[in-house]
Amino acid sequence: MVKEALHYSTLENGMVQCELCPHFCKIKTGNRGICGIRFNIEGKLTAGAYGIYPAVHLDPIEKKPLNHFLPGSSILSLGSIGCNMTCLHCQNWSLSRERPEGMENYFIPPDLLVNKALDKGSVGVAFTYNEPTINFEYIMEVAPRLRERGAKVVLVTNGHLAQGPWKEIMEYTDGANIDVKGFSEDFYRNITGGDLNTVLENVKTSVDLGVHVEIAYLVIPGRNDDDLQIDGFMEWVMKELHDQVPIHFNRFHPDHKMMDVEATSGRTLERIRDKALKRGIKHVFIGNLGGRGYNDTFCPGCGKKIISRDHFTARQKGLKGGRCVNCGTIVSGLWKQ
Ligand code: SF4
Repeated sequence: MVKEALHYSTLENGMVQCELCPHFCKIKTGNRGICGIRFNIEGKLTAGAYGIYPAVHLDPIEKKPLNHFLPGSSILSLGSIGCNMTCLHCQNWSLSRERPEGMENYFIPPDLLVNKALDKGSVGVAFTYNEPTINFEYIMEVAPRLRERGAKVVLVTNGHLAQGPWKEIMEYTDGANIDVKGFSEDFYRNITGGDLNTVLENVKTSVDLGVHVEIAYLVIPGRNDDDLQIDGFMEWVMKELHDQVPIHFNRFHPDHKMMDVEATSGRTLERIRDKALKRGIKHVFIGNLGGRGYNDTFCPGCGKKIISRDHFTARQKGLKGGRCVNCGTIVSGLWKQ
């Protein structure tokens, strides 16, 4: 389905400029932008992956990962194709490097999605697996309708969008897991092809707008696990966000174009988690490592365990109405009543 894109301007000689993300691609007729899915067709920018979702699963919300967003729920999870970053270590490259040509069979009509969003116990729709925000037009069409039905809208995103569109999409987002992929401009430029400052600004905007935000930091040995980046990241969280934003330090494994770097050791992840806790960040998790205890939630007031997690299942025993049962401290998140 050919859908005209939002957020672009027309230049000379049929060229267009996409204004959706910080690449601001200038695209000649017949060509596409860096993300691979937005095309200039005869002087019009088109959203080439509009509604195309080859990956559809009912996932535990903890798999996004979101640990403080209706724990223990399932969510209908959709993955499209393309990406506006070019991470060497991409763990979803089969989708992010795919192109929309010949994928029309995977089109999900907006009405169908809205009608199915709450089936089988799902709490809503998560746009995930590839970078969802480049499918801006589709999400902006379905998100308000999903919310009218009581369905939650979740994004798992790299946060790499121009500020205007980011604010627009956040207006219709209930929960977001946003990657902060490292904490230096060099890392972003050389490893991800993205812009760190844009991402940090967008994370802050989302928190300020009241969206439930959790941050994923994939720890890559020798690339973004040095003290300068880790300390800088933690300082930024404490200064610009707040101490109850859940942070997931996730284990890297060799993938895509980064096969020469070893997987992150448990010791490194534990060292970083301990450092974050000492700095005052209240909810620090370790992802992709297995084992128990890395994803439990503790009360930020009295320190009691209030949610136990094991392999994407959650038992919320010490929390009622968003407060610790033991000491009454408010715990940040969206909780089942
Ligand atoms: S969304 Fe795609 S086409 Fe638009 S600026 Fe970003 S990479 Fe370029």
